[in-house]
Amino acid sequence: MKSDVTYDLLIIGGGISACVFVSKYLKNNITKKVGLIEIGRGLGGRSSTRISKKYEGWKLNHGSPNFNISNSKNNLLLKRYIDELLDNKYIKIDDSEIIFLNEDSNLETKNKSEFSCGVNYLSLDSMSELSKKIIESNNLKKEIDFFFETLIVDMKFNEKGWLLTSKNGDKFKTKYLICSTNLLLHKRSLKILNVNQIPLRKAIPINSDKKIDLLLNYLGEQTFIPRLTFLIYTNKNYSYKDNYSKKQRYFYLKNNLEKKYRFERIIFQLQDNNKLGIVVHSKNAELINSYISPKDEEVFKQNIIKNFNKLFEENSLVNKLTFDEKISIMKWRASQPSGIAVPLSLQFSKKSKIGFCGDWFEGNGFGRIEGSILSALILEKKIKDLIK
Ligand SMILES: Cc1cc2nc3c(=O)[nH]c(=O)nc-3n(C[C@H](O)[C@H](O)[C@H](O)COP(=O)(O)OP(=O)(O)OC[C@H]3O[C@@H](n4cnc5c(N)ncnc54)[C@H](O)[C@@H]3O)c2cc1C
Repeated sequence: MKSDVTYDLLIIGGGISACVFVSKYLKNNITKKVGLIEIGRGLGGRSSTRISKKYEGWKLNHGSPNFNISNSKNNLLLKRYIDELLDNKYIKIDDSEIIFLNEDSNLETKNKSEFSCGVNYLSLDSMSELSKKIIESNNLKKEIDFFFETLIVDMKFNEKGWLLTSKNGDKFKTKYLICSTNLLLHKRSLKILNVNQIPLRKAIPINSDKKIDLLLNYLGEQTFIPRLTFLIYTNKNYSYKDNYSKKQRYFYLKNNLEKKYRFERIIFQLQDNNKLGIVVHSKNAELINSYISPKDEEVFKQNIIKNFNKLFEENSLVNKLTFDEKISIMKWRASQPSGIAVPLSLQFSKKSKIGFCGDWFEGNGFGRIEGSILSALILEKKIKDLIK
């Protein structure tokens, strides 16, 4: 047993939805024993920041670089929470330039994308820091036990609660469980975790909890968008052609250009030491499939730079790269859920003492941080009086 403690509540995952949930939960339940288990080395999940050990001084947001709230006017819960983050100075309105590159590589600034519609917000620090600050705001007495670099691979349930087992064999007991990831609920777990049954299905056999059966049925239809992100550590003197000085600047490629260059968007990220980092996103299947192993990484990287230079060849804002930049590559097997979203009515099962949050639930924010935050806020409201 990792510890003799039986937790009141354990959360699997340390992404932004888990952080929002646990922070709100602790505000109302200060006496509860809470733990959080995360396979990564820190908080943030898909909205985190790569702090390079190899290339000192660089902090690049390699997942979501910022976030947008498409419509909070009709949603007081979300509006109040965003206001709270603004008041605490964890985020600010992101007034960075968003440029849409069209077929002739002309610039347009009026367009909107899934990631830029509504109001855009920027973390005042890095994206990982945002998740950390959200937790710390209500964890003043250090109530949470954190277990990083811990991958849960097995779940068991009986009327007393949950027993979780990690890949290393560590055991965790809890009365109630929150899954902020759907990995343990989805068929992709079979390959990723090397198990022969979906862990939640194994823990709650079919026909024993209708809500869980329905939830698993919905997830059976959910797919995921893979993505590659290229983190480019530019040389000392690399800069824009103009005097742009804001923290980030976004270039989106419109359909035909995206097909041609196989890039989706390019985000310039100004570093504390004034160097200019570049993160290139791609969801092009051909490019993703051609990146098999770090073995052929050098040729792959050269091609990325070649493409980048061609794209910005006659651009009035962006300088070309010189081919001696360092690049690291991040492969996201499941960067965003797609297809069917799970109804919010299936977020909590009292019978099985388990709750769920994340961007995989229905709503305007499906597949984005907006959905992660809102689902966490709704879940906290649902269970606040149920967990005694
Ligand atoms: C490249 C990229 C670009 C994106 N761009 C945008 C954008 O511009 N705007 C936007 O709004 N959204 C964007 N998104 C989506 C956004 O990042 C997500 O919607 C959001 O971060 C999801 O947060 P979450 O807490 O719901 O899930 P996650 O961040 O996925 O959190 C789940 C956590 O659980 C952990 N975990 C999973 N399984 C286990 C296990 N078995 N044991 C222990 N830990 C486990 C994971 O490591 C992860 O940290 C982007 C995502 C990617 C990858």
